[in-house]
Amino acid sequence: MSDAVPRSPNDTAARPAARLAGVKGMNDLLPEQMERWERLEHAVAAWARSYGYRQIRTPIVEPTALFKRGIGEVTDIVEKEMYSFEDALNGEHLTLRPENTAGVVRAVIEHNLLYDGPRRLWYTGPMFRHERPQRGRYRQFHQIGIEALGFAGPDIDAEVIAMSQRLWDDLDLTDIRLELNSIGDASERLAHRAALIAYFEDNATLLDDDARRRLHSNPLRILDTKNPSMQALVEAAPRLSDYLGDESRAHFEGVQALLRTIGIPFKINPRLVRGLDYYNRTVFEWVTDRLGAQGTVCGGGRYDPLIGMLGGKPAPACGFAIGVERLLDLMSQSSQSDQGPGCDVYVVHQGDAASMSAFSVAEGLRSAGLDVVLNAGGGSFKSQFKRADASGAEFAVVIGDDEAANRTATVKALRSAGGERAAGQQHSVALDALADYLVDALVATGD
Ligand code: ATP
Ligand code: MG
Repeated sequence: MSDAVPRSPNDTAARPAARLAGVKGMNDLLPEQMERWERLEHAVAAWARSYGYRQIRTPIVEPTALFKRGIGEVTDIVEKEMYSFEDALNGEHLTLRPENTAGVVRAVIEHNLLYDGPRRLWYTGPMFRHERPQRGRYRQFHQIGIEALGFAGPDIDAEVIAMSQRLWDDLDLTDIRLELNSIGDASERLAHRAALIAYFEDNATLLDDDARRRLHSNPLRILDTKNPSMQALVEAAPRLSDYLGDESRAHFEGVQALLRTIGIPFKINPRLVRGLDYYNRTVFEWVTDRLGAQGTVCGGGRYDPLIGMLGGKPAPACGFAIGVERLLDLMSQSSQSDQGPGCDVYVVHQGDAASMSAFSVAEGLRSAGLDVVLNAGGGSFKSQFKRADASGAEFAVVIGDDEAANRTATVKALRSAGGERAAGQQHSVALDALADYLVDALVATGD
């Protein structure tokens, strides 16, 4: 037995501890990736503002009942994808949010946000679904979402679609196309549902287990199947569009007319149903061929019944959610460089007096509004200059014994900025004048 040697309490010092890995399907976002995320978040905040949408944040944990009622019991999400648990202290049934529409609607009802009229809201944050991890499909992933609450007309459906198109334009994304459908109202779906059940019953031998189970609970979801052997059957199934009434038809035509007016191309996909129960009338997805199997970047539509279903005074609503990881994957293909902006100044210093001075010089430059990295951990001038280069800084500020004694710093331009500040140029600058000198120099380099 190799483990027979008695362990001392300090054993951890002698043996390396076993490494811990993160949860499968939940990703760390490393600094190299975060720069792209931050750029996106920045663009999104400005984009949402430009349409008058205001941000809302709701908790990551909600009562399980919210999702059961809001998303629907017979959906992939509620049946098999939720991280649900009992609060160990009081036994409450809780769930990590798999999406944020239900949470936003809960908050809107709870805080009576529709009291003085409709609301345009947006959110962003992590969502959790227990799915098989693969490219574009994670267990913790992020969404950016838009919710327009209290608006009934087709103009708002078109607005949110136009908004999504504008975000793709802002991000220089191409090869992303719009698929559109109307899934009608409850009574229309009921008539279609009866026709579907009859059709699938007539073809019962061709159904897979999932489909057979859903045949009477939610036959519409069978249309959403990913099983290749059922595609032909589903293709020939009765179409909801043949069961739409006048109002639903007019609404759908209104949406299409507005999209044509502003020149947004779309394809009507009669099989588009979306995976959540609360949608009605307009549903849409933005899809691309560039992401492999997980090609849906954004999905949304109208969900007029939801506010009432969650106990609020019934009000119509419409929105969408973008999968941030898929969007970033697509952005990374349109070539924008991952190299984030560097800092303005890297402070190189050596010697006790110089290091004391460097610490306060760095603080002073930050007070003047500059981004400053102070060398830490010592090192020769040569190795400090290497780090300065790698930091992406425009300038190195060098403080050695001589500079410390004279209350000066040597400023060295690290990047080629032209003129007297070409890379490699150095100047001695009095510490009192250093901040002004660098601010001017950075303006001259266009930073
Ligand atoms: P899918 O059919 O790909 O499972 P969904 O219909 O379940 O998508 P929605 O609930 O509509 O997706 O979520 C909106 C968007 O969020 C999706 O279009 C996708 O971009 C993204 N998304 C959904 N689930 C995941 C996941 N597990 N990992 C990463 N992104 C996801
Ligand atoms: Mg899904």
